Amino acid sequence: TQACLDAIEGADALGAFVHKTPEIALERARAADARIAQGDAPAMCGLPIGIKDLFCTKGVDSQAASRILQGFKPEYESTVSQQLLDDGAVMLGKLNMDEFAMGSSNETSVYGNVVNPWKVDDRALTPGGSSGGSAAAVAADLCLAATGTDTGGSIRQPAAFTGITGIKPTYGRCSRWGIVAFASSLDQAGPMTKDVRDAAIMLQAMCGHDPKDSTSADIPVPDFEAMLTGDVKGKVIGIPREYRMDGMPEEIEKLWADGTAMLKDAGAEIRDISLPHTKYALPAYYVIAPAEASSNLARYDGVRYGHRAKLAQGDGITEMYEKTRAEGFGHEVQRRVMVGTYVLSAGFYDAYYNRARKVRTLIKRDFEQVFDSGIDAILTPATPSAAFGLGEMAQADPVQMYLNDVFTVTVNLAGLPGVSLPAGLDKQGLPLGLQLIGRPWEEGDLLNTAYALE
Ligand code: GLN
Repeated sequence: TQACLDAIEGADALGAFVHKTPEIALERARAADARIAQGDAPAMCGLPIGIKDLFCTKGVDSQAASRILQGFKPEYESTVSQQLLDDGAVMLGKLNMDEFAMGSSNETSVYGNVVNPWKVDDRALTPGGSSGGSAAAVAADLCLAATGTDTGGSIRQPAAFTGITGIKPTYGRCSRWGIVAFASSLDQAGPMTKDVRDAAIMLQAMCGHDPKDSTSADIPVPDFEAMLTGDVKGKVIGIPREYRMDGMPEEIEKLWADGTAMLKDAGAEIRDISLPHTKYALPAYYVIAPAEASSNLARYDGVRYGHRAKLAQGDGITEMYEKTRAEGFGHEVQRRVMVGTYVLSAGFYDAYYNRARKVRTLIKRDFEQVFDSGIDAILTPATPSAAFGLGEMAQADPVQMYLNDVFTVTVNLAGLPGVSLPAGLDKQGLPLGLQLIGRPWEEGDLLNTAYALE
């Protein structure tokens, strides 16, 4: 813990940790030592970790990287972080992210950018987003592991950009209670770690049924680490042809082919598959996610949490809402609220929101059919490129940024588990990731397939 705290002090330039809690960390580390001395040490006991700012942590600033939650110190602990603490994990502090987890580059944060610890010729690169602080902190050895959340790729894309491992579990595996809501039907927490074994151990501690989240599943949690044998003989791996996009960089093609060859050499059977509705996933996601966000973010009204705008003489409650929300939300969040409100409005609901929901069902059905035909896991690239430069993806054209999520959003729409793992470097020496998508509730099997690729 002390070594991590020292490393964090020397790494302010990365912008990964935004609220540091060294005293709490050292106290918890001592308590963990005592537990270990008594022989009562669960797997996470004494391990120093970072927590994404989206998780409510009792008595510790929890701002979702937004101005509107400035000064918010929750009275309660999120279920997932509580489970980690109960297991003896040591929280070092809170990690930077895109505001309300909306973004793919960590550039929408009120705290400012995170810098990717990987560099090319001193060009500052994004660590990805929205869990960019988590990814950078793990990659730069500021902590052993971190929590992330993934609504449309926010664990897997930053993991790929920083050369670490991240898994988004099946929807319902981890409790959402106490995690600031973005798009409730898509949001899932998951671990971001240095390798697959760490991911298995940390996921174990994070998941399980929680009566406080009605979508949390009451199904047994197997011993994920024990399932890591590396044996994939006889497993059937699907390669979806729709993920082979026009203009895909050669090195991404090669990465994918190399991963396929590795699994084949390990004894897996490789099959070409089709997921025909893939091309509608991004548009459906960018209707459904803002729709749910606009509803979830209605609670930030200047009364219940955080920031309230200064009011002028004669201002009433409407002005208070308007001024608070105009000042408190950044541009990307405002855009999502406007898009979401529009697609849910009486005149456009059927044309946009309802249509997107139908597309979502078709996407889910594509996966079900593929799994019913005997496919055990699906292999794809995690991202269409390596990390891009900070400020390079024009803020003026949000769609360019949204395109980065092309391989990841399908998994959230279908509620499936997906893991991103480091799979090599591009020509410039930057990490690239592969993604494996699994059957619902089969994270153990999925992690084992990832383990075989490691
Ligand atoms: N980049 C996606 C978005 O901006 C995904 C975010 C996430 O998974 N939290 O919505």
